Amino acid sequence: MSDLPARVLVLANQKGGVGKTTTAINLGTALAAVGERVLLIDLDPQGNASTGLGVERRDRAVSTYGALTGDHSLAEACRATNVPNLWIAPSTMDLLGLDLEIADHKDRAFKLRDALRRLADTEDGQRFTYVLVDCPPSLNLLTINAMAAASSVLVPLQCEFFALEGLSQLLATVEQVRANLNPGLSIHGILLTMFDPRNNLATQVVADVREIMGDKVYETVIPRNVRVSEAPSHGKPVLLYDLKCAGSQAYLRLASEVIQRERRLAA
Ligand code: ADP
Ligand code: MG
Repeated sequence: MSDLPARVLVLANQKGGVGKTTTAINLGTALAAVGERVLLIDLDPQGNASTGLGVERRDRAVSTYGALTGDHSLAEACRATNVPNLWIAPSTMDLLGLDLEIADHKDRAFKLRDALRRLADTEDGQRFTYVLVDCPPSLNLLTINAMAAASSVLVPLQCEFFALEGLSQLLATVEQVRANLNPGLSIHGILLTMFDPRNNLATQVVADVREIMGDKVYETVIPRNVRVSEAPSHGKPVLLYDLKCAGSQAYLRLASEVIQRERRLAA
């Protein structure tokens, strides 16, 4: 089996509602807009990334569940979206039961890594330059599979009082995966999301997180923006829904920052 030429970035935070899915969709779109070929893998049983990119539930006969169980290949689960250069492997509720189904498999943490390696043996797989994995709000076996398959982890943090709560547990999990499953794993960066400049507390949270996490924190901060939250109900990334809004512009800046960091890591 070959290795994927793509960088595999995992969006993880065991807290829900911090902007993982929103970032997966819109960073994926922004990377695709600048010419990258992006595959978004939906590993959340809720399937919000799939819905947000317009994949109806009835069109998910082959999904990430089948790709992880081995009933299907990941290539079969991939489909084009209405964004050029962006593909998605959608998820279904079946993923909820996967933990238990594979609990006694020796390779239970490597189901996604191996599915990606098999994808790399196909012509389509070789074309992807970025794979983004949207994780569920939990440090469960799905998230471990994502980290075991990843080059690096992108951690969205919401600009609110409890932003840092849980971060040390998340970083410890990344460390464990690096030590035991995937020595190449790194933290790509920490992304501050849903920033509201009128809120003094949010400004303080940004300062605190930058002080503690230093240059791990992306310069780009994603503003709280109603267009960002409206877009998924239209089955579109915000970049297609309203390119000029502050949210779209922030995700375009994030994409160029991500690419710059990648170049630095590769150098
Ligand atoms: P997670 O995947 O971490 O659970 P989501 O990406 O689903 O989080 O975001 C949680 C909610 O916040 C969603 O309703 C989403 O539309 C909204 N949201 C995310 N980012 C923004 C933003 N920048 N501005 C406004 N609403 C946002
Ligand atoms: Mg989500």
